[in-house]
Amino acid sequence: MNIILSILFFIVGTCLGSFANVCIYRLPKGKSIIWPPSFCPKCNHEIFWYDNLPLISFLLLKGKCRFCQEKIASRYFIVEFLTGALTLSLFLRFGISLEFLIYLIFVLSLIIVSFIDIENFLIPDCIVYSGIGLGLVLSFFYPGLHLSSSSRLVALKSGFLGVLLGGGSLFIIGYLGGLVFKKEAMGGGDVKLLAMVGAFLGYKSVFLTIFFSSLAGSIISLILIFLKIKKRTDYIPYGPYLALAAVISLFWKGHYFLNFLID
Ligand SMILES: [Zn+2]
Repeated sequence: MNIILSILFFIVGTCLGSFANVCIYRLPKGKSIIWPPSFCPKCNHEIFWYDNLPLISFLLLKGKCRFCQEKIASRYFIVEFLTGALTLSLFLRFGISLEFLIYLIFVLSLIIVSFIDIENFLIPDCIVYSGIGLGLVLSFFYPGLHLSSSSRLVALKSGFLGVLLGGGSLFIIGYLGGLVFKKEAMGGGDVKLLAMVGAFLGYKSVFLTIFFSSLAGSIISLILIFLKIKKRTDYIPYGPYLALAAVISLFWKGHYFLNFLID
């Protein structure tokens, strides 16, 4: 039974990934994410439903448009698979619950933000601002989001502190980095993104997210430079590292490690 449910949640996840791909492509261009239906950006031919199945269609079409043979970016496959895998992980961790649903929205926003940042070096305000608002509202109506707290006000406070701490600390790091390195070390989008993480996960997870993101950032940047995918002077967006760290913090929530931190 669990296996059937797991497969089902993975498939639902890949469909959400398909939607995420639409957002990643259209949001930075200021286009509607609802209309028109998917089309090939090269030949403008509409993509029929049977060519739009998550993961499967990409494999069947060998990553090419059916009509003009234009290469489809591997990002489509990667995002669908990643969203499927994370949806499944959330289900295995939280079961069918309100928490699952809330964190699913959170993780989906992180995926969309990350890939927009990778491709366009920007983090769209519309996602992070609505994320901050939604995180705070949900903290109040569903205090279980910030595990340690039982009352609505305590949970809301944790969310607020998360926003302040998330936004504030990165702003200070960015400011100091600017003074030391004489160039922009941290984009304004990163600051808002960490504020959103704080709203959803509470202030304790903000520390964890900063720690994991700088760790992941250093290691992955070094690997990218070593593999010559990026040059030392290239700008490497920080949003994806923050998102990765936020997902790690999310799954870490409630573990003994965090209990060391002040309540
Ligand atoms: Zn085409």
